[in-house]
Amino acid sequence: MSGDLKLGPHVALLPSSGMGHLTPFIRLAASLTALGVQVTFITPHPTLSLAESESLSHFFSTFAQITRKHLHLLPLDNPSVNTEDPFYYHFEVIRRSSHLLSPILSSLSPPVSALITDMSLASTVIPITDALRLPNYVLFTSSAKMSILFLSFHTMVGTKASGDSNLMKDVQISSLEPIARSWIPPPLLHDDDNLLKSYFIENGKKMTESSGILINTYESIEHESLAVLSDGKVVKKLPPVFAIGPLPPCNFQKGQSLAWLDDQPAGSVLYISFGSRTAMSREQIRELGDGLVRSDTGFLWVVKDKKVDVEDDSELIEVLGHGLMERIQGRGLVVKNWLNQEEVLSHQAIGGFLSHCGWNSVNEAIWHGVPMLSWPQHGDQKINADLVERIGLGMWVENWGWGGDEPVVKGEEIAERIKELMGNQLLRSRATLVREEARMAVRADGSSYKKFIDLIETWKTF
Ligand code: UDP
Ligand code: UDP
Repeated sequence: MSGDLKLGPHVALLPSSGMGHLTPFIRLAASLTALGVQVTFITPHPTLSLAESESLSHFFSTFAQITRKHLHLLPLDNPSVNTEDPFYYHFEVIRRSSHLLSPILSSLSPPVSALITDMSLASTVIPITDALRLPNYVLFTSSAKMSILFLSFHTMVGTKASGDSNLMKDVQISSLEPIARSWIPPPLLHDDDNLLKSYFIENGKKMTESSGILINTYESIEHESLAVLSDGKVVKKLPPVFAIGPLPPCNFQKGQSLAWLDDQPAGSVLYISFGSRTAMSREQIRELGDGLVRSDTGFLWVVKDKKVDVEDDSELIEVLGHGLMERIQGRGLVVKNWLNQEEVLSHQAIGGFLSHCGWNSVNEAIWHGVPMLSWPQHGDQKINADLVERIGLGMWVENWGWGGDEPVVKGEEIAERIKELMGNQLLRSRATLVREEARMAVRADGSSYKKFIDLIETWKTF
């Protein structure tokens, strides 16, 4: 983005836990800075993953004009929180340290015009900014369609006695394509209380009291959902919604060696990654490896064996086994470390992306025009996979289910679908069009660019 607004306002940003939440905040900070806004970036400290702390240190060394403040997290007094997910647990740690924000926000100079926070922190942070009479904006880091589910979920859950009858069938929201029951994140359908469910309920309710909602999406892919948000019929009394995406990549982490990719023909390589926090079962990893070998396609595969990177210390050979390691030789490259996905997706050798459909990964595939084979694993990812298919960017084999469902998906089946993806010329040309539309949205006079300017103008009046 570019622009020359003079004397820009000062805003503070507060992300939540995990790369999927941090990355859009980093991109938002870079876009705001380019538009002349002064940014203070408050980082919950310590982070859970190494990927987050490394990204932050590269980011602050590249963007020296952005001020960094630490929110020093307190240990939980009552660690018996119902979740198996360390990232959800970390959301809770941040939420329970939110009161420490007040002195940070009050001390900023010049005073800030607004705080922008993550949707998972809305219900604890909005009371704090209200007490300081500071406008509070929420950055929703998934799609507009997901935001509708998030904002209206508290109206769908029943009491213990009645049960969640609204959630026993597909969810029909206004005139939108229904959300199939099987696409809803499974913990939301559980009877018992769990962290994801309480976040949806508490934050979804409270977000309507924010000063505005920013969504990392854009008109041409989510026009209908954005219209439903703004017509006030489904979610009443909603503050203004700003579709400001796709937040463009800001390359501050260059430098990895992609020598192997440089030697591959254009569009010939399939890239496989399930994001920053999903570890498949070893049995499924091995079937996937078998599928890759059988597909006869060159591949770059990032393997993850544990959810949190600092705990992921097994050797590749232990995860894949000798037999598979040997079969892979000469056919593709397998790594078990962090690769800068932006750089991979922008490489001319990449012709397809087998992805879990994390919302950032979808946006990055869109930005680089790379066709996707979707294999959702958790959370919002089935709803994202449906969108990917509808905009013509990719294919989704719905009967593979969530990653982790039994029985495992067999190598033969995976190989067939990979061949289908890599040979699909229609998908390739459609992906190029999707890329062009996305880039137009954030160019001067594009729909998202205009929303950004409106937002910044609002802050100037505070
Ligand atoms: N990412 C990366 N390298 C990796 C894994 C992930 O650069 O090896 C980045 C990816 O580009 C994206 C983010 O981490 O920006 C992951 O976010 P996403 O929403 O796709 O999925 P999540 O990790 O939250 O499941
Ligand atoms: N999870 C994850 N990445 C996400 C969301 C969830 O790794 O983006 C993991 C999390 O560790 C938790 C599990 O997924 O343990 C919950 O998965 P699911 O949504 O399938 O619910 P389940 O019914 O299995 O509890």
